[in-house]
Amino acid sequence: MGRRIPLFVLLLAAVYPLALQAEWHSRQAAIMGTKIAVQVWHEDEVIAQHAIDAVLGEFHRLDQALSPYIESSELSQVNLRAAHQPVVISPEFFDLLADSLNYSKLTQGAFDITFASVGYQYDYRKGLKPSDEAVARSLPLINYRLLKLDPNKYSISFEREGVRIDLGGIAKGYAVDRAIEILRQSGIEHGLVTAGGDSRLLGDHMGRPWHIGIQAPRNSKAMAAVLPLSDSAISTSGDYERYFEADGVRYHHIISPKTGRSAGELQSVTILGPNATRTDALSTSVFVLGLKEGIALIDRLEDVEAVIIDNQGKMHTSKGLEHLQPSTVKDTATSH
Ligand code: ADP
Ligand code: MG
Repeated sequence: MGRRIPLFVLLLAAVYPLALQAEWHSRQAAIMGTKIAVQVWHEDEVIAQHAIDAVLGEFHRLDQALSPYIESSELSQVNLRAAHQPVVISPEFFDLLADSLNYSKLTQGAFDITFASVGYQYDYRKGLKPSDEAVARSLPLINYRLLKLDPNKYSISFEREGVRIDLGGIAKGYAVDRAIEILRQSGIEHGLVTAGGDSRLLGDHMGRPWHIGIQAPRNSKAMAAVLPLSDSAISTSGDYERYFEADGVRYHHIISPKTGRSAGELQSVTILGPNATRTDALSTSVFVLGLKEGIALIDRLEDVEAVIIDNQGKMHTSKGLEHLQPSTVKDTATSH
């Protein structure tokens, strides 16, 4: 004779998935020129909403400090004055610049925040690009060695007039890392923060991994692959977000420091790693380096992996992801 299952257990089993659902809280916003999405799990709605508020506040704070479009930002002030005198900046900004220079050294100049010396002359919305002469004139100004950081004074100076910097290749990743730190401090153990092409996962999706999609570069409705991930960061750099076409050439926002023109060998680069500052900087870097050098770099680094889609639409992976299959799954927590 089987034992009767008490009614309340049955009821609990029936409502439990709903209750679980109710513990997820999410919000979206447009900050730093991109789409921000925050998703957190917590039993207490108030704690969850406060944590999300704090995260969005942090994105606004970093936008005010790092945006090249805001005249009062620390970054704009540096661009305005650093060729004339050393500019004292906040320790946070200083550290991010120092980190950027480390990525320049690691990638032999593929990642270079002085790309902006030429980069500012493009307007992807209006379809504007600098002439070949203008690129040739500004190209010597793309060189991270022209940036002098003084760690004793927390100051930066430019060695030449006309140099400009832009943190578009690393700032969103940094902001995502700050957001995850804020969630952690708020007592959140499971969450997801996305800023455009940069995401980081805190914990897992309640006992299961999160499923993160990599967008097919030439079909916005399709996924090239889906990755099960927990407690890690993922960034995608693509040629399909911000671009225009002229004379059969796709001009997009990732600039090769060697040519001052868009890097043309790949359609997208996705990097997995321990934090989003790193995956953001490396996705931009590998996009510039191209397939062979890019994979070689990632295979040399122990804590990161890559999925690369070349300009024929073919997928390539670093050593640690050789098992990855192209995917048809559509239901993902977020996609890049
Ligand atoms: P997004 O997430 O905005 O698509 P990516 O991580 O793909 O950004 O990086 C693209 C951004 O990086 C550009 O918009 C620009 O601000 C910056 N960038 C472009 N070329 C370089 C480069 N060679 N080195 C560093 N940053 C770059
Ligand atoms: Mg990047």
